Amino acid sequence: ILEARDLEFSFGSTPALRGASLEIDAGEIVAVMGPSGSGKSTLLHCLAGILVPGAGEVVHDGRRLDSLSEARRSALRREQFGFVFQFGQLVPELTAAENVALPLMLGGVRRAAALRSAAGWFDRLGLEGLGERRSGELSGGQAQRVALARALVTSPQVLFADEPTGSLDSLTGEQVMDLMVGTAREAGTTVVLVTHEPRVAAYADREVVVRDGRVTAPARLAS
Ligand code: ATP
Ligand code: MG
Repeated sequence: ILEARDLEFSFGSTPALRGASLEIDAGEIVAVMGPSGSGKSTLLHCLAGILVPGAGEVVHDGRRLDSLSEARRSALRREQFGFVFQFGQLVPELTAAENVALPLMLGGVRRAAALRSAAGWFDRLGLEGLGERRSGELSGGQAQRVALARALVTSPQVLFADEPTGSLDSLTGEQVMDLMVGTAREAGTTVVLVTHEPRVAAYADREVVVRDGRVTAPARLAS
């Protein structure tokens, strides 16, 4: 469903990807591991069409993603991809419910209908009663579940998660992972999960390791 072929990417003179290749099947949950600075986030951003690689190809559903215009890539991200990051993803001025409804409203759904869909996700993710809170009034785990609801509300084909539990304690991280992987499996959502925590990677079907900007042979970690 998604493939990176020999990606290269540099930030100025700093090479971040040096020939990274990765193939991801529909419905697969893939954990991307590797040392800090190895290029995991850069790879995720290229796969998601946020960054355009300097060389190589990103193929999504048989189409070159990297040669689309920014407008087409941004529409694709909005319509087919969902994102969960480590920190600071909620819009602080909006309530939790508005944050979750936002991607639907950006896609043209009316406010009332979008808020109704958001409310359904609040129930599924154990966030009942928190819809009117602002992000500063949520705990880390609650905020991360709201971010997950926001990523899932559009029923994305692919969910990109970059250290989604990185700012959470291990129990809260497990709860967020249980919800994320549970909903993804139920919906057949493909998940690209960047993490440096073996316990989080253990949720995936497959683990790959990024080193020095390349995807090395799939590694199994001792559990
Ligand atoms: P971490 O585990 O710490 O999140 P990572 O594997 O996600 O690391 P990347 O963020 O992909 O690593 O970074 C890969 C390389 O690119 C590193 O050398 C990093 O310093 C560099 N880099 C990342 N983002 C930028 C940026 N915005 N500007 C300049 N260099 C960057
Ligand atoms: Mg990173």
